[in-house]
Amino acid sequence: MRKLKFIGLGVVAAGCSAWLLATIELRVDAADNTGVMTGVVTSAKGPEAGVWVIGETDDLQTKFRKIVVTNDQGKFLLPELPKTASYKVWVRGYGLADSKPVIAKPDQDLKLAALLAKDAREAAQVYPANSWASLLEPPKPSEFPGTGPTGNGINRAGYVIHSAVHRARSDIECVMHTHTAAGIAVSAQEDGLLPLSQHAMRFTNSIGYHDYEGLALELEEQVRLVRDLGQHKAMILRNHGLLTCGASIAEAFDLMYYLERACQTQVSAMGGDAKLRMPAAGVAEKTALQFKNLPYKAKKTEWKALTRMLDKTDASYKT
Ligand SMILES: [Zn+2]
Repeated sequence: MRKLKFIGLGVVAAGCSAWLLATIELRVDAADNTGVMTGVVTSAKGPEAGVWVIGETDDLQTKFRKIVVTNDQGKFLLPELPKTASYKVWVRGYGLADSKPVIAKPDQDLKLAALLAKDAREAAQVYPANSWASLLEPPKPSEFPGTGPTGNGINRAGYVIHSAVHRARSDIECVMHTHTAAGIAVSAQEDGLLPLSQHAMRFTNSIGYHDYEGLALELEEQVRLVRDLGQHKAMILRNHGLLTCGASIAEAFDLMYYLERACQTQVSAMGGDAKLRMPAAGVAEKTALQFKNLPYKAKKTEWKALTRMLDKTDASYKT
């Protein structure tokens, strides 16, 4: 029987004020019903060190998953697995494709075969995308000669803007930049984005502004782009357009979608003679905080729906 000891510190106020030290023992019954799974992972190259072994089951009340990493001999031990369940166990790792899952129970000793990926593209599809992408170096400026007769068809200004953010921010995996009419219109307004809508209030105190310097063809501008973005994930490029970035494509798109909607709303609201109504003091800040604390799951649901729509429209982006 596993026992957890908690030290409770309380005050006895009545009679004599004295500190009382109490020890409470809690029994964790579930621990009695767990076992371990051991084994070794090999590939055509021999024992596979430092790869993930993932054990997962749907047999319990909630989805249950354990992930461990093999040692130098390719050995692993998956601990504390409830014995009543069966587990799918497979191998994932750098340069590998996911192995075919085997079905196993606790107390079994497994021999798992890691599957070497055919090429870098296949490996990138199964290895955690963030980890893979973070290993990528932004290409050199010389690889972006521009769109002229001696160019490669890739916009030089796009390289200057995007590579600046990717180099400076290790937390960022995706940068988006647009030239929409509403985005450019707000970028040309002296006061920038105003807290006129719920969408706009989301960006309160979390958006940067970068002054226009001409077409972004010069690498020296990268220093100022990075400075003006700071730790934000959204920026208005004055007289130019919008920029958002995120830890995933989903996050960058989500921010861009709402920033664009905020700009459209502002342009519409300022298009007439009506006097504009601003929220009471502190409300915009409160709203921004509320957005920040929204559970990320909701955002993921939106992204899944959007990619399903994209798949139906044109799935060629996957290849
Ligand atoms: Zn641009």
